Amino acid sequence: MHNTIISLVILFIITDLGFPYPAPEDALHNAQVFLEKYGYTEKEKRDANLVQLEAAVRHYQWLSHLPVSGHLDVRTVLQMNEPRCGMKDISQARWLEQFNGLVNRKRKKRYTLNKKWYKHHLTYQILNWPWYLSPHQVRQAVKAAFQLWGNVSSMAFSESMSGAADIRLAFFDGDHNDGAINAFDGPGGALAHAFFPRRGEAHFDNAEHWSLNGRGRNLFVVLAHEIGHTLGLQHSPFKNALMAPYYKKLGKDYLLNFDDILAIQNLYGAPPSGKLVQLPGKEFAFFQDWNPKGVEGFTTANTKPFYCQSVFDAITWDMENLFYIFKGRQFWTVSLNGNVSEPHILKHRWKRPPAYVEAAAVSGSDGKFYFFKGSKCWRYKESKLEAGFPQKCSDYGLPQHPDTVLYFQPLGHLVIFKGTKYYVINEETLTVEPYYPRSLKDWKGIPTETTAVLTHPDGSIYFFKGEKYWMFDQDNLRVTASGKWAEDLSWIGCKNS
Ligand SMILES: [Zn+2]
Ligand SMILES: [Zn+2]
Repeated sequence: MHNTIISLVILFIITDLGFPYPAPEDALHNAQVFLEKYGYTEKEKRDANLVQLEAAVRHYQWLSHLPVSGHLDVRTVLQMNEPRCGMKDISQARWLEQFNGLVNRKRKKRYTLNKKWYKHHLTYQILNWPWYLSPHQVRQAVKAAFQLWGNVSSMAFSESMSGAADIRLAFFDGDHNDGAINAFDGPGGALAHAFFPRRGEAHFDNAEHWSLNGRGRNLFVVLAHEIGHTLGLQHSPFKNALMAPYYKKLGKDYLLNFDDILAIQNLYGAPPSGKLVQLPGKEFAFFQDWNPKGVEGFTTANTKPFYCQSVFDAITWDMENLFYIFKGRQFWTVSLNGNVSEPHILKHRWKRPPAYVEAAAVSGSDGKFYFFKGSKCWRYKESKLEAGFPQKCSDYGLPQHPDTVLYFQPLGHLVIFKGTKYYVINEETLTVEPYYPRSLKDWKGIPTETTAVLTHPDGSIYFFKGEKYWMFDQDNLRVTASGKWAEDLSWIGCKNS
């Protein structure tokens, strides 16, 4: 049996493919790993039972709508390499049912094996997303993906901007602490996975090039599929179902087929109105102004700036009338009364900026912007990069990857914070002043590794780390207030919308 599979692998390598391909042993190994990952075989039994392997290949071929031969033929191996959802195709329980001769037990339908939610309104939160996608469009796409399921069932969903949410969506690279089997594999292969109720998590491979406008990997389709899992749906054997395991492009047809609708209604029932709303794929081709006709309850999202929902990279104040908040390749300006701008792209404002900013400050003496990232620093007069910059500032003794940087009025210098130390910097020479670095203990009550800091026009210094802030009194050199910045500081622009 083992030999048959190998010889078939060799055969197709020679006759069919005509391009370099893994050696037969590798192809067999890859197929075994694939069948284990997706629930067709068990790892412990890999070498013990080749009859089982053939049965698994048959089952895989059947579920994948391929000719059922039990052999690893070309089409089967190619199909295994198609982009898909990282979730198992069949549950272990069902696999055991089928392969241990327990067929006389009453077979359960796929959707009743799952756990479900015991409420009809769920909240969700989008923890992060690829920097190249517009926050507004991502949020619209996520909303639309939840709504797809809400339109055909009794479920309703809303975004939770802070605090606990039932379902959390996040993008990760590679291994992300939910088991080796869930580690992402770079572009292609497994695109995303999720957890059945009531864990409430869906993870997306950050290494894919995601898109919401037709080119690249369509994020909306994958969102809608993974949300199906978070609601309790398993993979569908129907090729046209949204819950089929393989990645589908956004087509013209309805996204949900009858099997998807039966599955969700089996868990949660039909919409209270009894009316199903189905939208064709073309309604989801763009999310800039997503607001399909004929569907109630869709309004333009309440768009709190992206930085409000997570940690930002740096913050500064231009000594005139604007705060600057940096995150990824974007920045926002916030006026004194808390009005936030649209997100802007760093390189549209500053010439040849870093890809993102680790620390930023504006000099109180001449209004120049300083950016720090890695071992380098950038200095701008307005949007013009000064001659000689970026410089390798670590050569002058400045710390690499500074936590934060501040213009400190009492000293008339920049102060860089890094770990348990702080450095006072001479702006002319970009060197560390004598007697520095010193211990962070001078800044009583300020934690190590803060992510951002600025001197506010009110004279206080605000340090940021995670969702928290500390207000530091320059005169008395102590923390006078602390809390959650997004909720407590109206000037940061997260409370208005
Ligand atoms: Zn899936
Ligand atoms: Zn994961």
